[in-house]
Amino acid sequence: MLTPYKHEPFTDFSVETNRKAFESALCQVEKELNQAYPLIVNGERITTEDKIVSVNPSNKEEVIGTVSKANREIAEKAIEAADEAFKRWRNVNPEERANILVRAAAIVRRRKHEFSAWLVKEAGKPWKEADADTAEAIDFMEYYARQMIELKDGKPVNSREGEHNRYFYTPIGVTVTISPWNFAFAIMAGTTVAPIVTGNTVVLKPASTTPVVAAKFVEVLEQAGLPKGVVNYVPGSGAEVGDYLVDHPKTSIITFTGSRDVGVRLYERAAVVHKGQMHLKRVIVEMGGKDTVVVDKDADLELAAQSIVVSAFGFSGQKCSAGSRAVVHEDVYDEVLARAVELTNELSVGEPKTNETYMGPVIDQKAYDKIMSYIDIGKNEGRLMTGGKGDDSKGFFIEPTIIADLAPDAVIMQEEIFGPVVAFSKAKNFNHALEIANNTEYGLTGAVITNNRDHIEQAKRDFHVGNLYFNRNCTGAIVGYHPFGGFKMSGTDSKAGGPDYLPLHMQAKTVSEMY
Ligand code: NAP
Repeated sequence: MLTPYKHEPFTDFSVETNRKAFESALCQVEKELNQAYPLIVNGERITTEDKIVSVNPSNKEEVIGTVSKANREIAEKAIEAADEAFKRWRNVNPEERANILVRAAAIVRRRKHEFSAWLVKEAGKPWKEADADTAEAIDFMEYYARQMIELKDGKPVNSREGEHNRYFYTPIGVTVTISPWNFAFAIMAGTTVAPIVTGNTVVLKPASTTPVVAAKFVEVLEQAGLPKGVVNYVPGSGAEVGDYLVDHPKTSIITFTGSRDVGVRLYERAAVVHKGQMHLKRVIVEMGGKDTVVVDKDADLELAAQSIVVSAFGFSGQKCSAGSRAVVHEDVYDEVLARAVELTNELSVGEPKTNETYMGPVIDQKAYDKIMSYIDIGKNEGRLMTGGKGDDSKGFFIEPTIIADLAPDAVIMQEEIFGPVVAFSKAKNFNHALEIANNTEYGLTGAVITNNRDHIEQAKRDFHVGNLYFNRNCTGAIVGYHPFGGFKMSGTDSKAGGPDYLPLHMQAKTVSEMY
């Protein structure tokens, strides 16, 4: 019997022993840099000539690891291995499957700072963000293990005299997991263990910028007792092996988290029925956001400015939930903007060597160039209040940037920038603020800062996002507390870390027997 679910606490870095422990984890990881990682198919280690070189975005010269790169032949082998393993794994008792997740969570918890240190190095995460990413990975394992135990006997249905009815869930088959780099541990782990605990097998293709932390996690699953072939680790270029895995007739579930364009492409491709395919594919796609913090005139303005800054600049704005738009009532606009600029000017940017660094780099050159070009567009569309400069000589650093006085339909009010840039727009009244907040194709997260009860009720009804928060920032969803997923072009609203998530990976079966 498992204890009730409780989320993993965040590390308090104001405590010296915690800081020292984290520093020593960073030292340990530094000694383990630049190793080679093979692919893992059916438990077998496969080394290829073609490699992915993972580098530290704070320091392009520092190699985190060299990872063998899957091609189509290996992708085929991985699907076959997953298909074969499924024949046994589907019949393993759900409690035993759940116990593997709990054991894996315990291993990660013991090595928590080490995993976070890999995230500092490979994803450029500041300590606090890396610690939260690892905590979330632990939470997904603990939460889904308990959810599976709750669901293992199905749900009650009525029986009539002489007839006994049951309704329960069965596994589906081979799952292709395609994960992003921005929650390189949590989302990669969550979208891998959910199909596993529900009795499916997995071919895992992590993001090419963060394959090392995924390799470490697959080793943990093996240590926790996961049989061979249940998870197969096949890093490779999304463009090269992605389509092959998605199109494969033996693929049954596709679980993707990433950008809108790639997600839409996968969604379309998955709809095609290929030769030999006897089923329709289940598709979970969680995509981008253009998330808004709305500030009402009757609000705590200090809280408003803080919420805007935290939402916009945590992990350099590289969260799907990042508050990249602030829509502020005209009566309080100047005051909130001025305070947000002050708070932003206090933020430190640099390589996250200590806990003092608030913002690290952005992930790579492509992201750096894209964000800088959006800043240029923004400077023409609005008024640059602070930031705006970047430096990619050693790592990919961009100043936290505020651009004000934007029209609701400005490019930087509409498109996902995925960097440390927040666009301010002025609203005439609360109705107008909600109208602006809803005027993008995305619908992921949002926050409203207000003391007006009627406006809270109005926003609950009319602010069209999957995760809506009041009087706080719009980032930082916690597993089991804030099930996460977006509306509109933000995705299929799968609500990861919530009670409806696991059934997306199973088929419900009705069995009726006459006595
Ligand atoms: P991305 O470029 O779409 O990549 C995501 C994954 O898809 C990577 O593993 C990538 O592999 C793979 N991929 C790329 N092209 C592919 C193709 N043609 N076929 C199959 N797979 C392909 O996104 P990202 O830059 O990693 O992540 C940032 C995006 O994710 C943002 O838009 C953010 O909002 C979104 N996101 C959403 C959520 C959510 O819950 N809604 C959470 C986190 C992030 P390679 O790395 O090899 O290209």
